[in-house]
Amino acid sequence: MSELVYKAPWEVELRGSAEPEPHGPLDVVVSIEAVGICGTDLGIVSGTYPAARPPVVLGHEASGTVRGVGSAVTDLRPGDRVVIDPTYSCGHCRMCTTGRPNHCLRKEGTERGVSADGAFRPFYLAERRFIHRFSEQLDFAAAALTEPLSCALTGVAQVNPRTDASAAVIGAGPMGLLYSHALATRGVVGSLVEPSRARRELAEEAIPARWRIVENLDRVVEQTPHGHVAELGIDLIVDTSGRAVEPALQRLARGGQVLAVGLGGGAIAVDPGVFADESKRIVGSIDSLDGSFAAALDLIESGRLPANAIVSHTFALSDYRQAFGELGVDLRRRRRMAPGAALKVVLKP
Ligand SMILES: [Zn+2]
Ligand SMILES: [Zn+2]
Repeated sequence: MSELVYKAPWEVELRGSAEPEPHGPLDVVVSIEAVGICGTDLGIVSGTYPAARPPVVLGHEASGTVRGVGSAVTDLRPGDRVVIDPTYSCGHCRMCTTGRPNHCLRKEGTERGVSADGAFRPFYLAERRFIHRFSEQLDFAAAALTEPLSCALTGVAQVNPRTDASAAVIGAGPMGLLYSHALATRGVVGSLVEPSRARRELAEEAIPARWRIVENLDRVVEQTPHGHVAELGIDLIVDTSGRAVEPALQRLARGGQVLAVGLGGGAIAVDPGVFADESKRIVGSIDSLDGSFAAALDLIESGRLPANAIVSHTFALSDYRQAFGELGVDLRRRRRMAPGAALKVVLKP
């Protein structure tokens, strides 16, 4: 049995992994079946997201089966299929008690797959409160989309769009697609913006009904179903890339919002007077809140999310170099390239 350890930028390796026991009464040991590779993992291994505390096992988008439970866990049994909420919260600090557990003050050193060991390993020890069960009908790779979808549902809740809002989501990777579906659950119709032709072709199979996919923001304006966009601008622009907030602001309607959810894009210059005069907002969002994890799992189980079109590749954990390579992280040459024709890539420990 092996686990994938992050040691330093560009240094990840497999090492031996032991099976943990449930120590506490509310512990659950999960045998991991599928773990999605996230943009956060790519940022950590390529040295652009410095929150990780090596040596640490990465991976936070996991599903599996229950292997063992502590003495006080009475509603789960070995063999149950579950997803793991990796976002630790203590429940007692000021952020946890004021409805913002995603910014728990005890998060540092407890963030699974970032500053505490995550799920790129055969077994994972969690507390009962972070475990959600799902049915036999759902496959493990689809269930592993629960965590990123919960983040998208949380982000959409932060901006609370009108049903008739015009919307654009920048980036047709997994997060962009999940954001388009999160918006579609609110009745919002919009466009995904993706410069890569290969990704556009893959994503075409996975966008919500009535949504379209275009190569740049100018096309959104030309092809929108909302007649007012050319004149007034776009009401809501979600930037999943971390690099497009500046061009998004230039296309934003008065009273509009940019939802910034990409990490590592660097600084931009803004004129605060424009925000005041035009009632514009930039809203940030990270991780999940307020039951969005259960809501995401429900959306996937209902079949309304085309999970099998969003998961484009599955690899054994031992083939991690190839898996990261599909997403543009070349671990041998230590450089980042444009991603291949891949959406969500899943590892199987
Ligand atoms: Zn993630
Ligand atoms: Zn807390």
